[in-house]
Amino acid sequence: MNKVPFLNFEPLHSEIKVEMLKAFEEVYDSYWYVLGNKVKQFEEEYASFNHTKACVGVSNGLDALHLSLKALGIGKGDEVIVPSNTYIATVLAITDNHLTPVFVDPSEESFNIDIDKIEEAITPKTKAIAVVHLYGQACWSEKLNELKEKYNLKIVEDNAQAIGAKWHGIRTGNLGDAAGFSFYPGKNLGALGDSGAVTTNDDKLADIVEALGSYGSHIRYVHEYAGLNSRMDELQAAFLDIKLQRIDERNEIRRQNAQKYFEGIKNPLIKLPKLVNETADGHVFHLFVVRCERRDELRQFLADNGIESLIHYPTPVPKQKCYKQYADALCPVADKVQSEILSIPM
Ligand SMILES: *Cc1c(COP(=O)(O)O)cnc(C)c1O
Repeated sequence: MNKVPFLNFEPLHSEIKVEMLKAFEEVYDSYWYVLGNKVKQFEEEYASFNHTKACVGVSNGLDALHLSLKALGIGKGDEVIVPSNTYIATVLAITDNHLTPVFVDPSEESFNIDIDKIEEAITPKTKAIAVVHLYGQACWSEKLNELKEKYNLKIVEDNAQAIGAKWHGIRTGNLGDAAGFSFYPGKNLGALGDSGAVTTNDDKLADIVEALGSYGSHIRYVHEYAGLNSRMDELQAAFLDIKLQRIDERNEIRRQNAQKYFEGIKNPLIKLPKLVNETADGHVFHLFVVRCERRDELRQFLADNGIESLIHYPTPVPKQKCYKQYADALCPVADKVQSEILSIPM
């Protein structure tokens, strides 16, 4: 029995249970279950929370990234720069669009893509950079805007893990051309099933994403694009709306818990995560990831004491079986950190 499970929904879900059940009843009685008023309302509130012009609700985080790249019109064979140590979804969104991922190693400090190594990976085929705010820490610098200008690139943010984080007062998900969000239950803002969204400041792009996610159609039975089915449910939108009202407060609790770890973990064999942004809101601690050369022993010790831990992620993406064609991609930093990282409960 885990005394400390990795993820614990109980405190929040018991607090909001009555509100959530009321939302369920409203949707149930409305007899309208996909893309309706609840989705509209959530999209408006989420765009406003994120300070972006538009938000489009979709089925999940992978689709949000897939549709963002597709809507940006990046063509077959074009290259997209992506960190080697992300969740596989970021890379699948690229390869599912018949684009070529070009892997760049993370910085050892932040675990985020090493922005200083991006320029050397740019070729005439490079059309976009997929920036991942990994573990909840905002990944940005002026350098990215400079590269974007100089090489005429698009930037798509994978903001599945950093909902609510800020870089110099700007919300992540409001820094590039488009951003993909996941509301998988375990994310900082989690639905009670699969759900996701795309945010952008480009109304036209939002319009295309919206059509692409509804079979490529704005008007019923008129198909402008060969789209897919990636619609948001009314139930998930209604549930998310209730949780959205509490997201800043929940992120603050995560930061306070992180502070307890920063102050309480004194073992010199355990390296604590580095905060690379100037302000506290630069990290929303989706995950608290420590490093330890004797990681597996540490993990066993925690397990023996009823504390669950996980590894995000045990294998760099180019080393996955499904990506044999990229097995030669050099990612010494990702290889090294992968054997030392451990995510402890938040
Ligand atoms: C969870 C996650 C995704 C995918 O989201 P789903 O809703 O599971 O499709 C993409 N990127 C990152 C970094 C994630 O953590």
